[in-house]
Amino acid sequence: MPSSNLRETLKTAPFIGPLGKSLARVYRKNMRTAADWWSQGIRYPALVDVRMSWPEYEARLAKEGKYYSRRSFRLNLDCEYDIVEKLDMALLGRFAAIWDGFYRLPPDFIETLVETYQRGWLRIRVARLQGEIISLQYMEQYGSYALCLPPFYDKDAHRLRSLGSYMWFKLVQQATSDPTIDFLDFGGGPVVNMPPDAYKLRYNPQDFGYRIKTCLTCGYMWPFMRLNEALRCKNCGKRVWVWHYAARFKYPASEW
Ligand SMILES: [Zn+2]
Repeated sequence: MPSSNLRETLKTAPFIGPLGKSLARVYRKNMRTAADWWSQGIRYPALVDVRMSWPEYEARLAKEGKYYSRRSFRLNLDCEYDIVEKLDMALLGRFAAIWDGFYRLPPDFIETLVETYQRGWLRIRVARLQGEIISLQYMEQYGSYALCLPPFYDKDAHRLRSLGSYMWFKLVQQATSDPTIDFLDFGGGPVVNMPPDAYKLRYNPQDFGYRIKTCLTCGYMWPFMRLNEALRCKNCGKRVWVWHYAARFKYPASEW
């Protein structure tokens, strides 16, 4: 990333840490989205704790969450939920096009996704109906922290299935049985007629006091608590100055 693009960003960005305004001259382009997050009132990553069993997770859900979880599972009893290892470009293209019809995807969405895959950080989940994939969800796993993208599916064709809830709850269920994942980050995104992130509350995201750091060199991400910790990228070792509250660095909420 050319450093010239990064200049002047801190002037408007809401993430002034101890490094303060002297860094304001360094970053620009990428932090424009941080200002968006801030203006939407989303200040913390929506982290879902999966360091427990599925029954334990379910027991912690609010009444509404329990209702949606059971209902979506019941409505999709004929679906098979599956982990897929290999990135299928045709499938990605098809579902990106479907989803783009509902929410505009960033122009570099596919490119960024493929890069993440090539670095070994992409996880793929699908729901199959009679052998045919009807929903696709990507997740970026960086160590024990995983940033989830929304499940892609045809909202018109599967309106009565509660397929979105099904995919999110299955993702959590699968993660509770995966000892390598501690936190799922549900990110955030506006939904028409709802306050930002409101529908995600049913999955019981919590504020654990973490912020998320993203390496601008390689794209690796990790949660941290104190501003003075983890100044070097855990993946490539480069200095990482910038942090943000919500993990939507590559996929700005305004474009979900
Ligand atoms: Zn890095």
